[in-house]
Amino acid sequence: MLECKSRAWMEIDTTKIAHNVEEIRKLIPKKTKIMAIVKANAYGHGDVVISKELIKCGVDFFGVSSVDEAISLREAGITCDILILGYTPPMHFHYVLKHNLIQTFFSLEYAQKAAAFAQSQQTMMRGHVKIDTGMSRLGVICQDHEYHIDDVLRIYTMAGLQVEGIFSHFSVSDDLSKKNELYTKHQIILFDRVLADVKKAGIHPGVTHLQNSYGILNYPELAYDYVRPGLLFLGVTSNDALEIRTNPSFLPIMQLKANVSLVKTIQPNVSVSYGRNYCSKDVRKIATVSIGYADGYPRAVSNIGAEVLIHGQRATIIGNICMDQLMIDVTHIDQVKEGDVVTLIGEDQGAFLAVDELTRWAKTINNDTLCFFKGRVPRIYKSE
Ligand SMILES: *Cc1c(COP(=O)(O)O)cnc(C)c1O
Repeated sequence: MLECKSRAWMEIDTTKIAHNVEEIRKLIPKKTKIMAIVKANAYGHGDVVISKELIKCGVDFFGVSSVDEAISLREAGITCDILILGYTPPMHFHYVLKHNLIQTFFSLEYAQKAAAFAQSQQTMMRGHVKIDTGMSRLGVICQDHEYHIDDVLRIYTMAGLQVEGIFSHFSVSDDLSKKNELYTKHQIILFDRVLADVKKAGIHPGVTHLQNSYGILNYPELAYDYVRPGLLFLGVTSNDALEIRTNPSFLPIMQLKANVSLVKTIQPNVSVSYGRNYCSKDVRKIATVSIGYADGYPRAVSNIGAEVLIHGQRATIIGNICMDQLMIDVTHIDQVKEGDVVTLIGEDQGAFLAVDELTRWAKTINNDTLCFFKGRVPRIYKSE
């Protein structure tokens, strides 16, 4: 891949990560540390580059979703603790041992399989126990109606396992409605009950962690050993329309750019792109831009008024977005020409188009939007 500003590219300013990490640290208790979640290639930003920058900021613990992601960090020379948050198929347990990874033990049955494998290798598998306090995804159910503390204790004491920590996950920490705030607070109560019961059984629970990005933004006072932000060090929240309880100032690190390939004037009553859902009412000047849905720019925002920046001004996407290209109306902008840079996310001559806007057009959350962009979009890193 050409590491250059070719047809479409992402610019990632890693120098802003340190600021974002400091903003997180200002919110949380002094003794609480950051476990950086760099799953899904650090939400498309490049897990190795982002992780190395985070290490410079003092981060020494990473979370990923799979053993493959963990191995790619190890192969890049990252020796920190790495927690696999998700499922490792038993046929890959040997990688967990070989690369000194920490596996999530999310049920008694799964822990038993991990333990049996580790014992067959005459060793121990490192792990954290996951508690389901209301997300109903992974974890041993520890809720009001069903409280499997016995399973938790059995995992802690199982031969073949070295349990070093315990965690749970919020499902509505981003929502401050009364109902969902109560739900989150109840998740905290349940997690604390599990911790107390583990201690009561004479077991040291190891390191504790509960908060994702919105857990930090809305419940910053919680004093567990780690917080688990993914999104925040990238400098964005899930959706700028969501109210939050704290007032941090994050700096977005990513911009998305593409080139103008052709500018043309079209006459009235001319249709643009596949499907012919845009038709000119009068004479228009349009530009073709070299980015499309195969780059990850969402086809769902075709012809709904989604905008881009060019020459510091807004231009509207017209017609259906194609696989490798899209068209914009630049009638109101002088001097648009081939080779001009179009900003789809980011800053252009003092104008700014936030990822939150694309997220609104695509009817999703920034976490999802950031993961849209495919491998064929080169990542260009700015560092000191
Ligand atoms: C993805 C994930 C996180 C990070 O979530 P953000 O909202 O990006 O901060 C934390 N914990 C778990 C278990 C996750 O799956």
